[in-house]
Amino acid sequence: MADRLTRTDVRNLLDRHGLEPSRALGQNFLCDGPMIDKIVRLGRVAAGDHVVEIGPGLGSLTLGLADAGASVLAVEIDRYLIDPLSEVTAGLDVTVVNADAQELDWEAHLGDHSWKVIANLPYNVATPLVLDLLASRPELESYVVMVQREVGERLAAGPGSKTAGIPSVIVAYWGEATVVGSVPAQLFLPVPKVESVLVRIVRAPTPNVDAPYDRLVALVRAGFNQRRKMIRRSLAALLSEEQIAAADVDPTLRAEALDLPAWGRLADT
Ligand code: SAM
Repeated sequence: MADRLTRTDVRNLLDRHGLEPSRALGQNFLCDGPMIDKIVRLGRVAAGDHVVEIGPGLGSLTLGLADAGASVLAVEIDRYLIDPLSEVTAGLDVTVVNADAQELDWEAHLGDHSWKVIANLPYNVATPLVLDLLASRPELESYVVMVQREVGERLAAGPGSKTAGIPSVIVAYWGEATVVGSVPAQLFLPVPKVESVLVRIVRAPTPNVDAPYDRLVALVRAGFNQRRKMIRRSLAALLSEEQIAAADVDPTLRAEALDLPAWGRLADT
């Protein structure tokens, strides 16, 4: 088994390569062996799996994934981290790609087998990227995403709950999301101000409601962008009150009260 990166290893790697963690890129490096092994377990990563790791940083998690016998595609945006990352993962079944995951030509890298995704990204990247990949890349069959607590809870909230938002409905359309653990801030270097959680998302073979995706997204965005208003107001530009009622949805409800089948019926109207 390859050693896990300790806090001292991470500090030494940064010093030796003359680097400081970039705040703008959300660089907080995990340095806790047991937590890394837990994430690998939660990702159900096993020998022979293909895993895309988005935001591998210095390779803390990458080592755990490779150790489990996975073949890893590691997509890192920061060109200054590519040397230390390549050094840490030398000799392992890891392909390092220096790219912004939001701009990557995924088609060219994925081939025709299925993949598991492990991602530890700043929240402003994680949420749009995961929503985009769910909609565009069916070969990505499951995800474990590490994000700050509120963002993770929103991803997993499920439509019809108080904390639901746009991502909750979109994720529920494509699959099932669950908060499966938390990651204390002290396990990172540098120590971030917020606590992180781990969200596991499993993509369903087909969407969970039979409704046109683009229309559903337009309605969900309109509804949650004015979440304090009744949907007869917030959706007025897209549906009349009569159409809402004809879809068997109460026009006086607010967006957060609608479950996925209700959004599906509205999108099908
Ligand atoms: N996974 C590593 C760990 O746990 O130690 C690093 C996690 S750090 C919170 C986030 C990483 O994502 C950084 O290495 C950062 O450079 C990278 N990153 C940020 N935005 C990215 C993007 N759009 N595409 C790919 N990597 C990105």
